[in-house]
Amino acid sequence: MVPLIDTHAHLDDERFAADLPAVLDRAAAAGVVRVLTIGVDLATSRAAVGLAARHPVLAAVVGIQPNHAAEAAPADWDEVTDLAARPEVVGVGESGLDRYWDRAPFPLQEDYFARHLHLARRLGKPIVIHCRQAEADVVRVLRAEFDRHGPVRGVMHSFSGDADTAAACVAVGLHVSFAGMLTYKTAADLRAVAATVPADRLLVETDSPYLAPVPVRGKRNEPAFVRHTADCLAAVRGVTAEVIADQTTRNARELFSV
Ligand SMILES: [Zn+2]
Repeated sequence: MVPLIDTHAHLDDERFAADLPAVLDRAAAAGVVRVLTIGVDLATSRAAVGLAARHPVLAAVVGIQPNHAAEAAPADWDEVTDLAARPEVVGVGESGLDRYWDRAPFPLQEDYFARHLHLARRLGKPIVIHCRQAEADVVRVLRAEFDRHGPVRGVMHSFSGDADTAAACVAVGLHVSFAGMLTYKTAADLRAVAATVPADRLLVETDSPYLAPVPVRGKRNEPAFVRHTADCLAAVRGVTAEVIADQTTRNARELFSV
C-alpha cells in the first residue's frame, strides 16, 4: 500500500474527543502516514499544536478562518503569529474568503487574508486557503500577491471551483487539494476539473470530520477515508491508485516539509 498524506483535517473537533487514538490507528492501518490538523481560530490553533506535540503522525497548521475573523480579538492574532513560528506548525491557515456564510464583514476577511499571506511569506511556510463562493475575489488577491512577491506557496483546500479558477491557482504557484466531494455522484464537473490539474500540484485531504467520501458518505469523516478520495482521483485521471498516492504524498512532503 503506497502511503498517503491527509493534508487537511480538524482533529480538535469534539467528534474526535472520545476516540482519537483509535482514529489515528485506523489511519495508520490505511497507510496514512501524516495528517495535517488545521486551526480555524485561536482556540483550535492552540489545540492543533497540542495534538501535533502529542501525536507524531500529526502536524499543525494555525490561523483564523474567514468565518471566525469577526470574533477574533487583536491579541488572538498576536498569539497565532507566535504559534505559527513553532516547529510543529508546518503551514499558515486556514485563511481565505467566504461569501457563503455571512459571519464576518468582507473587508475584515480581506484584511485577515492579507495578514496570513504576509505571515506565511515571512516564515517561509505554505498557506492553506479556504474559498467558498468567493473564487473571483480570492484569485484577485492571489494575483496581486504574485505580482508583488512572486509564486505563492500553499494550497487551495477542498477545491470546489471551476477549471479557470483551478488554472488561476496553479498559475500563481498554488497546489490544489481535493476532498470527499470529488467522489459524489453530482460532482462530475469537479472531477473534470481534477483531471486538468498538473500532477505535481495535486493534493488530497479529508477535511474531517466533514463531508466523508463515497462509500462512507454520511458518516463522521476521518483521515483513513482519504484513500477513497485518492482512488477516485486516480480513476478520474486514468492512472493507478499507486501513481496518485505516490504523487500526492511526494507533493505534500515537499510543500509542507513533512
Ligand atoms: Zn478546514
